[in-house]
Amino acid sequence: MSTLQRIRGLCDNPECRRKDVGFQQERRRGTTMELIRHRLPASWPANAAVAVLPRNSRQLVPIDVTRVEALRQHLERIVIEAEALPDAECESKETSATTHGVEPQQAEMPALAAACGLCAGHCCATGGDSAWLEPTTIRRLQRQLPPLAAPRIIGHYLDYVPETGYQDSCIYHAENGCRLPRQLRSNVCNQYLCKGLAEIVQGLEGSAEPCVTATVIGVSPVSVALIDALGVLDIIESTGG
Ligand code: SF4
Ligand code: SF4
Repeated sequence: MSTLQRIRGLCDNPECRRKDVGFQQERRRGTTMELIRHRLPASWPANAAVAVLPRNSRQLVPIDVTRVEALRQHLERIVIEAEALPDAECESKETSATTHGVEPQQAEMPALAAACGLCAGHCCATGGDSAWLEPTTIRRLQRQLPPLAAPRIIGHYLDYVPETGYQDSCIYHAENGCRLPRQLRSNVCNQYLCKGLAEIVQGLEGSAEPCVTATVIGVSPVSVALIDALGVLDIIESTGG
């Protein structure tokens, strides 16, 4: 190995590098778990399962008009494309998202919505100026609602854009969460459940105890909450120290 490889403790073999990714992830997880365990009050169940969630740390900024224009153009395009879709395609082709094994019935657990609130929408960064909306989303709405003219649909979506939202996140991602009503959201947004939420489901279903749920930035916990199926029972927020 070269001097640099010796310092890194890793050669350039692609297989070694692939294995190292998993190893580093496990190491970071171990550090995070240790930091979380240090924060747990003595009054909380000692053997509670621990779920780890990310935490949105973006700044709130005014939504720029160029972003609204980008959304308008996207909506105009998908509304036209929606009209051209054959009926058979609309039923099956709305893009799906992973739930990390959480079943639809488990996804209704109020604790999961509470956990997303603690995380403050880290995953919404993927929404950009199109919010995962696609022609099949428009066709779903058209099936569910009485007939609507295209400009009315576009105007309705634009009405929900907040004045202030998180920088570099979805155009609908505002301080108190997603501004779009569920029915107007894409299937991706309505379906996606991150790995941390799956850990909460496993933790709560595998034990009669509540579950510890921590939001982290890097390896450091920001908030540590005790939750049961109905939501947050107790919470410790980081004081920044
Ligand atoms: S799904 Fe996960 S990453 Fe997305 S808001 Fe909820 S807890 Fe955060
Ligand atoms: S539409 Fe709502 S749920 Fe979907 S990415 Fe944007 S803010 Fe998040």
